[in-house]
Amino acid sequence: MVTIKSTREIETMASAGRVLAGALALVAENVKPGVSTEQLDDLAEEFILSHPGARPSFKGLYDFPKSLCTSINNEVVHGIPSSARVLVDGDILSVDCGVCLGGLHADSATTIPVGEVADATKQLLQVTRESLDAGIGAAVVGNHVGDIGHAVRQVAEAAGYSVVRDLVGHGIGTSFHEEPQVPNYGEPKRGPRLVAGMTIAIEPMVNAGAHEIKTLADKWTIVTSDGSLSAHFEHTVVIEDGGTRILTQSSQS
Ligand code: MG
Ligand code: MG
Repeated sequence: MVTIKSTREIETMASAGRVLAGALALVAENVKPGVSTEQLDDLAEEFILSHPGARPSFKGLYDFPKSLCTSINNEVVHGIPSSARVLVDGDILSVDCGVCLGGLHADSATTIPVGEVADATKQLLQVTRESLDAGIGAAVVGNHVGDIGHAVRQVAEAAGYSVVRDLVGHGIGTSFHEEPQVPNYGEPKRGPRLVAGMTIAIEPMVNAGAHEIKTLADKWTIVTSDGSLSAHFEHTVVIEDGGTRILTQSSQS
């Protein structure tokens, strides 16, 4: 069931989203060669918990053990922070995080270069960010969920990349994952209609190579099947009559 949020619920999600944006900014400031993904997780968790009423959504969600998902290079999503995973110059790190405040969740992800990365890698990050922007641009009242995925995929494939098909964006609210599913592919004017008050997480996962993915033996970490690099950018947005608003940023227009 797709739920429509009240103004109060939306403002609570925006508050959660501001904490989340702050946590991701703090992580980004501290990404550098020699830092472990567990150190970044500790920083984010401490930051989130320093805000009264806020808690990390991921910790305990489906028994996930940490507050961040940290996915390096060919890892697409759901990497588990570890003191044994130390960042190296030229890596890319996808950081996914959720914050729960007042019983409502916000969800956002970004991919951060570690030190100096190759031009081809910068291009992958840029295009994935642009594909998210295109998806958000298509997430307007009167469009359908298929318009979002279509817009994302057009941008990614025009640059020669592929979008992950087996993982999708989602509705979000009192539950972290709600209906509808928001794939990063689709047909215009297909799928559930977008109406004011819907809150969804749009999250392109873009592979430099083929779209196929597989899960590692830890049962969490998802990697590209061909070993190619993967980037992930995500925002939680609310569909509004006056335009779509991003809820996971530090200052909101
Ligand atoms: Mg996320
Ligand atoms: Mg999500």
